Amino acid sequence: DAIANQIAAGEVVQRPASALKELLENSIDAGATKIQVVVKEAGKQLIQVIDNGKGMSATDARMSFERHATSKIRNSQDLFSIRTFGFRGEALASIAAVAQVELKTRQAADELGTMIQIDGSEVKTQEPVATTPGTSISMKNLFFNVPARRNFLKSNPVEMRHIVEEFQRVALAYSEIGFSLMQNDMEVYNLLPGKLSQRIVGLFGKNHQSQLVPCEELTPHVNVKGYIGKPESAKKTRGEQFFFVNNRYIKSSYLNHAVSNAYENLLQADQHPFYVLFLEIDPSHIDINVHPTKTEIKFDDERTVYAVIRAAVKQALGAHHV
Ligand code: ADP
Ligand code: MG
Repeated sequence: DAIANQIAAGEVVQRPASALKELLENSIDAGATKIQVVVKEAGKQLIQVIDNGKGMSATDARMSFERHATSKIRNSQDLFSIRTFGFRGEALASIAAVAQVELKTRQAADELGTMIQIDGSEVKTQEPVATTPGTSISMKNLFFNVPARRNFLKSNPVEMRHIVEEFQRVALAYSEIGFSLMQNDMEVYNLLPGKLSQRIVGLFGKNHQSQLVPCEELTPHVNVKGYIGKPESAKKTRGEQFFFVNNRYIKSSYLNHAVSNAYENLLQADQHPFYVLFLEIDPSHIDINVHPTKTEIKFDDERTVYAVIRAAVKQALGAHHV
């Protein structure tokens, strides 16, 4: 039913950037080595993701928009508890409930692909189509059928900033995948596959090249790997700080503090260091399902994680200053 679909969709698709996140994750799951993103009007008019992944059969393509058989949403109580689930099999159904979607997909072994058009959960057409192997999904006119949500979207610059942030997070986590981002027919990024340091330079500019300090600390509980910025590259804004846990972007003011604390008196109070740090930790020691968009995390031993990060950054800075 349409209303239940739209309510569930609101949990997954809060804004254009959250739809982009789901589409990018699907492309990565499909084994893509090249992912192109096309955005118009900050994603309000169009978000298109084109990948060279394994594609889908015509039947699977049709199935991919079905909400998986689930009893998650029966009443308002369930709607609240869905926050603890993670959204397996919800993303495409949710996107199709609140946008006009066109999917083109082809498996390499098939001669023809399939094209499906869906408006607000309603399948308009499905037909064979000549297309390259992989998948292209266009999401047009987000919330066209939910005016209250459409009006709730922020200005184009704000929504575009969320899109770029989401794109940056995924592009950092998968530097071995080529990514591009076009906005209103202009190229924002064109990132070749490569090492993390090259990806950082591709995303944040050439002046980072000489400013990156490798940071690595391997312990039985947690591994830390990545780059931090030299103290002299610190900025007055907090933008370029990234933590990934088991390759998923997370937010943690507690762990931010571990890094800035390690810089100690190398920074002024209003300066924020650049960093991209990847933590690897046994999944049994974390809980990533504390937030519907899954960017927050609980560690069962956060003090140890804090200490290891602080030590890693201190050591990297020390080595840099010798
Ligand atoms: P989930 O990713 O949790 O399974 P989604 O709604 O995001 O749920 O996607 C539904 C299904 O559609 C996926 O399980 C996958 O089989 C298929 N799919 C979605 N996007 C792609 C893609 N880009 N390439 C190949 N298959 C895809
Ligand atoms: Mg998915």
